[in-house]
Amino acid sequence: MSAYDFPQRLAKRATRSSSATLALLAISGLAILGLVFVAALWAGKESDAAALDRQRKLVDSRLQDQVDRVSNDLRLMAAGYSSLISASASMSNEDDAGTAQAFATMSKTVFGYNGTFLITPTGDLAFASDPETTRRYKWIRPLLLPMVRTVLHGKEAAAANAPIRVDLMRLEGRPSIAGIASIDAASRTSQPLLLAAFRFLDGPTLDTLSREQGLAGARYARTADAEANEVAFQIEATATHEPIGFIIWTPDLPGSRVVARLTPLLTFAGVLIGGLFFALMVRLRKSLLELAQSEDHARHLSLHDVLTGLPNRALFSERFKHCLDGLRHHGNQALLALIDLDRFKEVNDTYGHPAGDELLIKAVARMQELLGNADTLARVGGDEFALLVPGVSAGRDNELLLQIIKTLSAPFELRAGGGVIVRIGCSIGAVGIVEGTAERGETLRRADVALYEAKSSGRGKYVTYDVSMDSRGSERENLTRELRKVLTEMPSSACNDLRPEDDAGKLELFFQSVHRATRGEPISGAEALVRWRHPRLGLLAPDRFIPLAEEAGLIDQLGEWVLRRAAEEARAWPETMTVAVNVSPSQLRRRGFDSKVLSIIEETGFDPARLELELTEAALFEVDAAVQSTLGNLRSQGVRIALDDFGTGFSSLSHLLQINIDRIKIDRSFVTLLGSKAEGATIVSSVIALSRKLGKAATAEGVETVGQRDFLIAAGCTDLQGYLYSRPLPCAEFAALMLTPVDGRLRGRI
Ligand code: C2E
Ligand code: CA
Ligand code: CA
Repeated sequence: MSAYDFPQRLAKRATRSSSATLALLAISGLAILGLVFVAALWAGKESDAAALDRQRKLVDSRLQDQVDRVSNDLRLMAAGYSSLISASASMSNEDDAGTAQAFATMSKTVFGYNGTFLITPTGDLAFASDPETTRRYKWIRPLLLPMVRTVLHGKEAAAANAPIRVDLMRLEGRPSIAGIASIDAASRTSQPLLLAAFRFLDGPTLDTLSREQGLAGARYARTADAEANEVAFQIEATATHEPIGFIIWTPDLPGSRVVARLTPLLTFAGVLIGGLFFALMVRLRKSLLELAQSEDHARHLSLHDVLTGLPNRALFSERFKHCLDGLRHHGNQALLALIDLDRFKEVNDTYGHPAGDELLIKAVARMQELLGNADTLARVGGDEFALLVPGVSAGRDNELLLQIIKTLSAPFELRAGGGVIVRIGCSIGAVGIVEGTAERGETLRRADVALYEAKSSGRGKYVTYDVSMDSRGSERENLTRELRKVLTEMPSSACNDLRPEDDAGKLELFFQSVHRATRGEPISGAEALVRWRHPRLGLLAPDRFIPLAEEAGLIDQLGEWVLRRAAEEARAWPETMTVAVNVSPSQLRRRGFDSKVLSIIEETGFDPARLELELTEAALFEVDAAVQSTLGNLRSQGVRIALDDFGTGFSSLSHLLQINIDRIKIDRSFVTLLGSKAEGATIVSSVIALSRKLGKAATAEGVETVGQRDFLIAAGCTDLQGYLYSRPLPCAEFAALMLTPVDGRLRGRI
């Protein structure tokens, strides 16, 4: 799992668990709702069943009421008729028939019966009647006969009470309540009479029932053809228990009503919970995503360099470890390179941090163009980068490293520096990693050793580690220690051959003559060049130990010694001769450098006007107010300032204009070009022309041939220095040289 996957996985897991919690909550909510709904349904059904039962019972009891009412009516009518015929004892048979007819009409209109008949115990009509009544009765008679028999039988059994029989039955095809009551008319006729009456249950009776009992839309049907929302109540014949019809109505179901009201509410609640769940899920996902993103961002920041976006040291370590593990398991090789930008610090100090930042970004972009997907480039220091290239071996001709050097050596245009063009370059220390030999700390150390080697052997190149460098490393440490010893034990003023028995040897000052570029080329002065006579290593050139002195913080001490020695020595020379002393960048930056120089001049009694300080462009990069005032102070005392190695740094021109210098020293690399490359002449002559225009003296360094000399003199150079005239010589030899005529010195060359 890579470092980047981790927060995403974490977020996914968090999303999953939070989603699960939410889903659980939502499911619980919906389940509760479902339970409430089921409970409501159940309660509704129960209450519906109870309500239906109640309504059925009511219908039943109302039907019974009707039966009772018919029974009462019959009793009343029978009693009424009985008293009617008793009162008119003299009446004829025709009168009786009329009375019966009137009675029947009354029973219909007053009591609401659909048929009333006076019949004999045999079941026949007691009086002749109209044909319609006779016809109707003919159909009814067989149905009434069983009741007649029951009434007559009951009469015999309980003679005191006129018996009545009321039954539910189907008459004329309609459900009816029919009753038979015996009429006590014994006083008038020998033959007993019976009153038969019936009332249809449908029609007005049903309407009354429906109205009084609140049976919505009650209707009568012969069969139970109830609609889905209706109920049918079966009416049975009292005698046979056969169904004689159905009362159908829409029951009042309070449970269903409640459920019907509850359903939209519950549905709404369900939808609400669902919607809420969905909204929460969306929100949760969003905030978790944001969380993951910010986590990702924070992690990215913690593992990357903010300026260049490259992996930082921490992430590089992780990748490096990963790479080594890979080598251990799969076997392979890889290349580790430490890349150090040359002269970055100078750009940063001269043009400010924004320019430095721009330079870094552009340098990184150039390097990245050369890298593959599997390669890791990390920023591990201010201007230091680490490059890990899997699958590549370290070799002397690594194409990628050569390309990096080439691309970083090309000029950079810095907008932040006001469009200035700068040249930097880089030094690279590389080490090959192969299976088995790979150990992280050791590999890094080796790359570091190689980088040091690249930097100390002239920069702008890459060096691949080999074991001999380790001994050189310790040699360096030894040299530093010995140099410290030499400097602390060094007598400040003495001739060079003192203390020969010293272990660490001693420093010596050599002088190289500088000649006026006029006829005869007389000596105009000399440059003081330090040497270390080492007991084991022999005579060491300054390149071997000046960097060590700078690194170990010994350069001020060394510089003071050189200046003192040079002044002491040059004091004895002809007054027209100057002495040039090299000054390291760190010396110049040291507070109080000017007063130190002036005090040494004073102590040695040397004429400041005969002293020239050579500063490299690197020293002048940090031209701030302090440096300006230091140089101003020295110049005001007559000390001259020369710009050494002119052309090897960058933006040389800007320095020329920025600082008040007295001399330009044209670097040997340009002089060497004279005679070999066409552009050499152009460069050198234009530099000389420029210095003349600015009113500065120009010394050409490294003049080795007569051709070079002639060209330089013709171009208008003011002074010449080089092996053509003399190599740097020890004090005594230089003193001898001063006495030798120029022609003699040139003898060897001609
Ligand atoms: P530099 O200041 O550029 O000194 C000139 C160097 O070029 C000297 O090397 C000198 O020997 C060499 N040289 C002169 N003429 C010729 C020539 O015709 N052909 C060739 N091939 N080389 C020539 P050296 O003495 O090894 O000094 C190297 C550098 O060490 C000097 O470069 C200077 O930057 C530094 N250095 C020397 N002495 C001191 C010192 O006392 N203090 C400081 N800070 N740096 C010093
Ligand atoms: Ca010099
Ligand atoms: Ca020089």
